[in-house]
Order: sequence, then C-alpha cells, then structure tokens
Amino acid sequence: MPELPDLEYVAGALREHAVGRSIAAVTLGDPTVLRVLIEAPLPALLLGRPIASVERRGHFLRFAIGVDVVLVVNAMLVGRFFLESGKAKRRAGTALLLELDDRQRLSYVDDRRMGKVYVARPADEARIPAYRELGIDVMSAAFSREAFDRAIARRRDQVRQFLLDKTALASIGNAYADEILFAARLHPKTFCGKLGDEDRGRLYQAIRSVLAEACAEIARRRGPIDEKVRDFLAVRGRAGEPCRRCSTVLRQVRVGAGDACFCPSCQPPTRALFIDWRKVGR
Ligand SMILES: [Zn+2]
Repeated sequence: MPELPDLEYVAGALREHAVGRSIAAVTLGDPTVLRVLIEAPLPALLLGRPIASVERRGHFLRFAIGVDVVLVVNAMLVGRFFLESGKAKRRAGTALLLELDDRQRLSYVDDRRMGKVYVARPADEARIPAYRELGIDVMSAAFSREAFDRAIARRRDQVRQFLLDKTALASIGNAYADEILFAARLHPKTFCGKLGDEDRGRLYQAIRSVLAEACAEIARRRGPIDEKVRDFLAVRGRAGEPCRRCSTVLRQVRVGAGDACFCPSCQPPTRALFIDWRKVGR
C-alpha cells in the first residue's frame, strides 16, 4: 500500500522522468477503476497532451494533463505505478497505461481493483470523493503545532484512529501510524482526550520526523517506483520480533478496524487502559 513517503518518492521520480513528456498512446484497462467526470471520449482527451505536473495531495497523486484535464489517483491498498521502457510487457491488472513520446510507459496497475483513477476538469476536482474532504497535509508548511492542536482538540477516539482519519490529517496509513506512535512512545489505544500538552507535542514531532526520515530513506535507496520499501520500519510488520530499542517482543493488537504493531514496554498503556481488578472480581 503506498503511503505518504512512498507517494512522495513516486511523485518526485515522475517529476524527474515524465513531466514535460507528451502522451503518445493510451490504453484503458478495467473500467471499474476509472471514473470519468468529463463528457469527452477519454483516450482522445489525453492524446498529444503533455504531463504538465505531478503532485501528491494527501494520499492521492494528481497529474495535470495540459491545462484543463487532471488525473487524480487514489491507489488504496495495492495500486502501484510503473515507469518502464517501451519494451516492457503490459502487466495484468493494468487500469491505465500512458505511452509517452520518449517511449517510456507509465502505468497504474491495480490487481484488486480497489483504487480509483478520476479524470476531471480542474474545476470539477471537488466532486472527487474523499479528495475534497482531505484534512491538513501533514507534510505541508501549514502543518504547524497550532494546526495539529486544532485537529486533535475535542477528539474522543483512540489516538491511532485519529491519526488514520484523513479528514483530520492528510494522510497517514497503517504502517506509518504505528511508526509514529512508537516514536512518540504512545500506546495505540490511548484516547486523544487523555493526552497532555507534552504528549501532543511529542506526537506532533513524531509525525514530522518519522515521515521526513522515511522519505529520505526511500529516496536514498533510489529503487523503482513500484517497489515498496519497508524494511527499515521499527515496528510495522515486526510483531513477535524484539523491539530495536528495548528488546521486548513487539505485539499486535486490534484497534478499531485495523491491527496495530507496538512495543508494550516503550508504549505502555495509560492508567485509563489498565484493567480495574476491583471491577473484575476474584
Ligand atoms: Zn521497546
């Protein structure tokens, strides 16, 4: 699943290698992945036009095609981008394949058809579901401590669920939510209302530093854009293995609809989460 650091890397690589190139051919794949919000035949709409810009907005990638068409991709859980030479074979699950004028092939592949590719006029972008509701971008300059405090104020949910709420923070996924909570030394089930000012400050700093360090590490590897680099993560995917900080065995717990990986020693439960033995009986 591409998360923010993955998407930052994809966007950067595409800016370097695909922006400025014109679209020479278009192949459409599974129509369930495509959402066309324009009343014009799709391949013709893209042909001959340049990829003018590529940027990440929350967990979406936005491609400006010429001046009056945008492609907005929500890759969801398994969607991947590929940028390959003209000789590459078309992959199974290809939803959209753009052949560029220098014979590179940019494709969006989604085996499970969970993601979406929206084709829209810039004026109609607000019609894209979940895109218009994005909260503050956690990698933007606007994400200040004050903006974070406003987003978390009056939240009654558990901190991990708050981190994953894309209408509050755009956008943190399962892997980095775990990494951020580990860095902030907060138990994933802590209720937002239990966090003091110092806890919130640590959490805010952890969001910034964990994402920035992951972006730097993924960029340093310089792998292909379809590769998901996760081997440097401290807790995600490591349940049952020792914590790198304290050697305690990492655990996995259910939080809301998802599973969280955490260290029971580095991220102890707050008092409110302790079982009250007086109520349990003997
Ligand atoms: Zn630990």
